[in-house]
Amino acid sequence: ADTTEPLLTFDEVEKRYGDTAALDGVSLSVDTGTVHCLVGPNGSGKSTLVRVALGLTRPSGGSVECHGSTVGCGFQTPTFYPDLTVGENLDVFGDITGADPGPWFEDVLARLRLDRERDRLAGDLSGGFAKKLDVALALQKEPRLLVLDEPMSDVDDVSRAELVALLDDYVTDERAALVSTHRLDEFGPVLDHLTVVESGRVVVDERAETLASSALDPDSLQRSYVDL
Ligand code: ADP
Ligand code: MG
Repeated sequence: ADTTEPLLTFDEVEKRYGDTAALDGVSLSVDTGTVHCLVGPNGSGKSTLVRVALGLTRPSGGSVECHGSTVGCGFQTPTFYPDLTVGENLDVFGDITGADPGPWFEDVLARLRLDRERDRLAGDLSGGFAKKLDVALALQKEPRLLVLDEPMSDVDDVSRAELVALLDDYVTDERAALVSTHRLDEFGPVLDHLTVVESGRVVVDERAETLASSALDPDSLQRSYVDL
């Protein structure tokens, strides 16, 4: 649609760590209305790209523009306070980010089955519930751009399905999500844009419609670039 707008753009972004080029000239655009998946083998630069996008790591070259959007993020390793309860974490993060979520957020908690875990210590949550709490914390301020680094790793099948359905509903015409993943197959039904990175370089950058009609179907991509 002609109403799409970029929420995040990378232009020839580089990030070097000594001799390692974690990002080696990455250009991409995350546009509204898009679930944008970032896939690639271990060490290909996904987490670096996410950290650069969030402004947590300064690029060595190129430019990154986050177009004045609110951004919510979930990290590869969940980042809440383990010694506080789920409810206390929601309160503390809400205070930090100035979030004042409406009833829609109660629905998010219910859909992720976190509403019944409010009194549980966050550090006692299973892997799947820990990831879901991290995603809930990222969503709390209703960001236009949601950035998630491997939200599916260490997550049980039921919680995976919950996360995919939530992502699908959350990403409306006004919003977008950039999601790094090892599990391209899980995102197949909601995938709008695919970027594959390998050794810090973009090797595939396509809209889902284009992918479906080309040789680059998600199954073979999964085999070629993820299941190495
Ligand atoms: P991915 O998330 O795809 O597994 P990363 O972005 O974590 O990949 O890492 C990309 C490359 O950059 C790897 O070779 C990794 O060892 C290197 N790297 C990442 N972060 C650092 C760092 N803080 N210091 C040195 N090297 C790093
Ligand atoms: Mg990573």
